[in-house]
Amino acid sequence: MLATLIPSTGLGLLSLWQNETMVADNVAHQLHTLAVDANRELEYWFEERVEGVLTLSTSNTVINGLSHPSATSPQPLPHYLRLVRDKLKPLLQLAVLNPRGKIVASSGPFPAPVILPNPWPQQAATDGVIIDPPHRNQHFNTTTLTVAIPVLSLDNEILGALVAIIDLNTVLPSLTYAAKLSSGDVLLLDLAGTPLLGTHPGEAPFRPVARQVLQQLRENEGKPLTFEGHLQNTVLGLAVMPQSLPVIVVVERDRADIYEAWATFRNLFLALMAGLTLLVAIIAWRMGRSIVTPLERLINAADRIAAGDLAVQLPVARRDELGHLTQVFNQMTDNLRRSRDEFETASQTLQKQNKLLETLSITDSLTGLYNRKKLDDILADQFARFKRNQRAFAILMLDIDHFKRLNDTYGHLAGDQVLSSVARTLSSSIRNIDFTARYGGEEFVIVLPETTLSAAREMAERIRIQVSGASYQFNDQSIAVTLSIGIANSRDRDQSADAILARADRMLYEAKRAGRDRVHCTD
Ligand code: GH3
Ligand code: MG
Ligand code: MG
Repeated sequence: MLATLIPSTGLGLLSLWQNETMVADNVAHQLHTLAVDANRELEYWFEERVEGVLTLSTSNTVINGLSHPSATSPQPLPHYLRLVRDKLKPLLQLAVLNPRGKIVASSGPFPAPVILPNPWPQQAATDGVIIDPPHRNQHFNTTTLTVAIPVLSLDNEILGALVAIIDLNTVLPSLTYAAKLSSGDVLLLDLAGTPLLGTHPGEAPFRPVARQVLQQLRENEGKPLTFEGHLQNTVLGLAVMPQSLPVIVVVERDRADIYEAWATFRNLFLALMAGLTLLVAIIAWRMGRSIVTPLERLINAADRIAAGDLAVQLPVARRDELGHLTQVFNQMTDNLRRSRDEFETASQTLQKQNKLLETLSITDSLTGLYNRKKLDDILADQFARFKRNQRAFAILMLDIDHFKRLNDTYGHLAGDQVLSSVARTLSSSIRNIDFTARYGGEEFVIVLPETTLSAAREMAERIRIQVSGASYQFNDQSIAVTLSIGIANSRDRDQSADAILARADRMLYEAKRAGRDRVHCTD
């Protein structure tokens, strides 16, 4: 989008710049034409005025009037001058001066004073001289220009001068016409920059042109410049200096007017570009969000999964590539979750089976008591403790009396049942800290940790009585059982648990020999 915006903006700016240059060139050309026209009008107007006065200076009436200076106030001359002045409107006053500069006759009764330059008439050319440059004339309350023409006799002697005061404002219609054609303003300034007259309708009082501006205009004669115009607005204008008149012609056009259409075009273009940029920005932002947000969600979800949290489920709200990716991601997470659950279940089953295996490996299957192997571990452990902290432990070795006979009488199955029943009795008779194991066949061993010999004897006696007092049922038959029990406890000189076991076995043997159903203890 930037790739399309940048060239189009560039092209637009280029065309704006070209337009501006074109407008400036056009206006410069128009201003130049106007300046030339105004200058020509002014020169033409001046020549015409001078021509009239020149013709007048050669009239017999004027020459005669001056040739007879004795007649101080020859009546025909003022009358003639008045007549001529009234005919030639731009002339405000006509006066005839003698060579000494004194007014001999004038068109009005109270002529405005006229001062001839010194030395007169050496300075005057035959076709006249301006003796008063254009300025505001208080006497006539208008802007005037004074021209003096030498009056010559028939012998070409200077008789005096014909002086005409001309109203400068009479040039205004010609200038206004030229200004209208070029839709600009024409302004006449004196050489000091004071405005004399201007073509702008509904004139506000003219302000003198700033000295700096005037200097620039004069230095760049004929070239357009931008400056503050006489109506205090910014204008494009130029100045020309007429050859025959000591004035400056300034032509100008309001800059805002010139560039009005261009400025409208520029503002439209800028508004369009601003709108386009905003639109592009919004689209880019939305596109960015529509890609970045789902990606961020995916990244966060991936992070959570990496941290072990599989309870991630992303919403699938789109049907595009990102939507597909999210869907696949969810499926992958589901698969992972399922695999983990299966793995955990399998692991738990395995643990249970291991536990069972472990239990089986240490348990006697018929009685549920510890087996011989586990008994060895228990004895080794107790012996090690005894060696460590000198706390004695006792061992009971128990054997069912005449079990062979029982088997023979009631059968092997009954024997098995009696074995497991006796085992249950043993289990229920011991403390939590004691261990009962099947030693082999119909023999059992009970390990009593931290137990004295007398306490062991008491316990053995209680067990013996409990078993002999019980009657074990098999197929509605009641079977009586007795136990012989040998007791031994740990001694300092023992090298292993087997020594204690051997002593207990010996005591059991003695109990058998003594008649069975009894307890025999080492001491
Ligand atoms: P005593 O009073 O001297 O101990 O005599 P007894 O018959 O109990 O001892 P003996 O050692 O002569 O016989 C033990 C019998 O125990 C032999 C065997 O058949 C029986 N027996 C060993 N294990 C089992 C078993 O698991 N089930 C059954 N039913 N009988 C067993
Ligand atoms: Mg036996
Ligand atoms: Mg026996």
